[in-house]
Amino acid sequence: MEIFHTIEEIREYLASKHKSGSSIGLVPTMGYFHEGHQSLMRRARKDNDFVVVSLFVNPIQFGPKEDLRTYPRDLQRDARMAEEAGVDVIFNPSAEEMYPSSYCTYVEVTGLTDSLCGASRPGHFRGVTTVVSKLFNIVMPDRAYFGMKDYQQFKVVERMTLDMNLPIAVVGMPTFREPDGLAMSSRNSYLNPDERITALILSRSLAFAQDRLADGVSCASSLKSMVEQYIMSEPLASIDYVEIIDTDHLRSLAEIRDQALLALAVKIGKTRLIDNAILIK
Ligand code: AMP
Repeated sequence: MEIFHTIEEIREYLASKHKSGSSIGLVPTMGYFHEGHQSLMRRARKDNDFVVVSLFVNPIQFGPKEDLRTYPRDLQRDARMAEEAGVDVIFNPSAEEMYPSSYCTYVEVTGLTDSLCGASRPGHFRGVTTVVSKLFNIVMPDRAYFGMKDYQQFKVVERMTLDMNLPIAVVGMPTFREPDGLAMSSRNSYLNPDERITALILSRSLAFAQDRLADGVSCASSLKSMVEQYIMSEPLASIDYVEIIDTDHLRSLAEIRDQALLALAVKIGKTRLIDNAILIK
């Protein structure tokens, strides 16, 4: 496996692959890999002749009070895990490589970014769609892989790809969980042992909501209040948002007819975690 740090190097490496008609899969990441990341890499390995993983903690998707500085990083460990998952190339540019001082172009998706993390993290998705556009242009993959744990991100990138007529298949992958149900996340490494136990409130509240829906609670605002109360019963947990919305446009719903997305952002101590599930009636 190769690791490239510059755009020129990776472009040069990929030129012959493009020329020979090999298919290329891209997995964009911020590193500090877990099995969730590896599940995307393995799927990319299965679908493509070449697999590129980008590893870049993208500064422009972090707010001024967020954890850019402390975000966990370990390139050596990541390289081992990527190799184990069959990755051919890691692209690991510096912030200066991606955003030189002359930089002034941004990509923005409207509407879909108004709710959930778009509302609670202003500018976040502008940062995501900008970096993903750049990565798409640098790598020119046939397929790109995103986790449904970041459901809104998946929908936003899918929309951007369609709207910009990019010839790239955006593939959404299921959320990979710890055996006790906690969605895998690089940010789980911030949790102390008590917080790690408390963090189960996220996945449990998804199951709780599915059970209440099965009991007949299909009014979205009633179900949302029940989930909020359930989460607030945990003293170490504080709610950023609980939203029940439609799975395509991410707009709020009055009544759950056949299915709905329940999306959560909850702070456990200082760590903000997200999770979601599609509730089926
Ligand atoms: P990140 O490094 O957190 O930006 O994540 C890189 C990619 O991995 C994104 O598409 C995420 O949605 C995806 N991902 C993160 N956690 C998981 C998980 N537990 N299961 C599946 N995919 C995940």
